Amino acid sequence: MTTAAPLQESFIRRVRSAAASHTLSHAIILTGTGDLAGAARFVAAAHLCREDGAPCLRCNSCRKVMEGIHPDVITVQDTEHKELTVEAVRQLKQDVYVQPNEGQRKVYLFADCQQLNERDQNVLLKIVEEGPPYAAFLFCASSAHGLLPTVRSRCVELKLRGDEGPADLAEAAALCRAIAGKKATGLAEYLCDLENRRIKREELRPLLQGAWQIAAEALLQRRGKAPDDALAPYTHTLSPLTDTALRRTEDVLRRLAAECETNVGPGHVLGALLSLMQQEVYRR
Ligand SMILES: [Zn+2]
Repeated sequence: MTTAAPLQESFIRRVRSAAASHTLSHAIILTGTGDLAGAARFVAAAHLCREDGAPCLRCNSCRKVMEGIHPDVITVQDTEHKELTVEAVRQLKQDVYVQPNEGQRKVYLFADCQQLNERDQNVLLKIVEEGPPYAAFLFCASSAHGLLPTVRSRCVELKLRGDEGPADLAEAAALCRAIAGKKATGLAEYLCDLENRRIKREELRPLLQGAWQIAAEALLQRRGKAPDDALAPYTHTLSPLTDTALRRTEDVLRRLAAECETNVGPGHVLGALLSLMQQEVYRR
């Protein structure tokens, strides 16, 4: 059975809270670089699960959805042609008016929106707008730009961030926490630990980039920007820093993340991080 484990915590929370408050949109575009198909199954399960905390991922309905065998989840994909055939779209137009088999809803999962040409999208737009109330639509697209603005305007977009998944950001948040302790000794201990673990440059780069993104997001939030789903859960790690200290920290992290792109050793970067933080943040 496929589980939702690789999905981002923030994504899971957002879907569950929408399902709990009965505000899960009937038309959703899933974008980004993560496991879009897995995310789509998770949302489909949320539509069909009748337990608390939907999708519970334990009930019969959830299990069938996650295994891809629920009769009310229809995956629309043509593996033989580049685009969906006219016939497939015509069939869908009729099928949508056939009541669900065992669930309260019927979910159409479009696995690859690149298969939807303009004509298909215009037909779908009409179904999304005028179809029966039990019908729900999930569009998987690496970018929402492949969909017509009219379709996008009828849908809620949920973004996944695959490359900087929860593991990287959780680790980056630990670095942020060490930085925000505002004591050089605390940060030195954390960095020593990384060095003792013989962290590689390929690991250090996403770590610094993640910490930098968290710092940049924390700064933007202080300036009133709406929170980013993936980064917002980690920005509190930097809350002990003043605005000035946060700005300087963001600058140091950005410079060192860039330095990791060149051929420097991780030990050098870790040493530079400690001394720059001492000079530019802690001693001021
Ligand atoms: Zn369930």
